[in-house]
Amino acid sequence: MDTQFGIVVPLWSYTADGGALLERAAGEVGLDHVTVPVVTGALSAFRLAADPERPYFRTEGGWHFPPTAKLYGASGVRPPKAAWFGTADALARLREHLDRLHIALVVRIELRAVRILGEREPHLGQRNAWGQEVPPAGLCACNPSVRELLRATLEDLGRYEAKSVELANWRPDHVVWSTPPRPAHWRDPAIRQLLDTCFCPACRQTAERAGVEPDQAARRVRVCVQRLIDAPPGVEPSTEADEVVAAYCAARVADCGLWLQRLAQADAHRDCRLLDGPEPPTSYGDLRPVAQLYRLPADSPLDKEHFERLLQLQARDRFAGWSLPAWRPCFNAAASLVFAVSAATAAGVRIYDFEGLDEAAPDAVTWLKQAVRFARRA
Ligand SMILES: [Zn+2]
Repeated sequence: MDTQFGIVVPLWSYTADGGALLERAAGEVGLDHVTVPVVTGALSAFRLAADPERPYFRTEGGWHFPPTAKLYGASGVRPPKAAWFGTADALARLREHLDRLHIALVVRIELRAVRILGEREPHLGQRNAWGQEVPPAGLCACNPSVRELLRATLEDLGRYEAKSVELANWRPDHVVWSTPPRPAHWRDPAIRQLLDTCFCPACRQTAERAGVEPDQAARRVRVCVQRLIDAPPGVEPSTEADEVVAAYCAARVADCGLWLQRLAQADAHRDCRLLDGPEPPTSYGDLRPVAQLYRLPADSPLDKEHFERLLQLQARDRFAGWSLPAWRPCFNAAASLVFAVSAATAAGVRIYDFEGLDEAAPDAVTWLKQAVRFARRA
């Protein structure tokens, strides 16, 4: 496969600048695709380049295109339309624009992150080992209504004729919102993983079908968390892998992976991509035909040491693509972006989504042009 270079174009920035940034990037960089977030959680942006008069943008998230209500009947969930747009269909306008530029459309769906949905319908969300609802964890990928909602969203998006669909963080036990208060050691990976393990009815059923006793797994999680919290600072408590908990997690990851593969096979006219990160994801193993992409952390400089670790992760998980910023603070100069893209391409990365151009300085397009040209030549 030829290496494919694309940028992420949020519809609110596209609407604000009338497509100027897209035109410029298409002309100077040469784009194979444009990735458009069409379902997201709450977010805010400061886009001086796209909208210098009104740079601050925020949305509670939801569906960023007009959903066709009747398609969602079977899910029992009404998809919330994002409030920032009225009746205009910016995705349809962008679609036509991309046709004129001969650029493929990729739609990105972050359905698990739609927090307003989790708050309105708590039964869709993850539950902890104490049986409590945890709305900030996001919707549960094992929940049948959430799965049907995703299937209906894909059907609804059919009219935009995207070449690919990118699903963000579609896996169990992955917490979408990590900012709310947590127990003292929540940043400790061991305790975090335990707190984030979902025990919703759908997850419990899936584990039971695989021969794992969910009550026993939940009990083990509670005991291990207590032990980790009780350990005095500086003392490593014994946290040897608990077999029951590991089997409980593995059963649901396997079920989710199979479901994704079936979904991708049924949706054969578009390629299906899975986007994870910046937390290194639990491996799904071989997910073909689903291509696995990794999203780099955007808020810290990618120094040499971080980049080495990233290449190790790439060597281990063989991601088909990366989603990464094309600007500061991740990269401090054009040369570091050029180096990173070339090294990643040499390490087997074949799909690129460059993020945040609408929030970067105009120079970012020039940096990107150099990085893409260099990687293509190599
Ligand atoms: Zn669950």
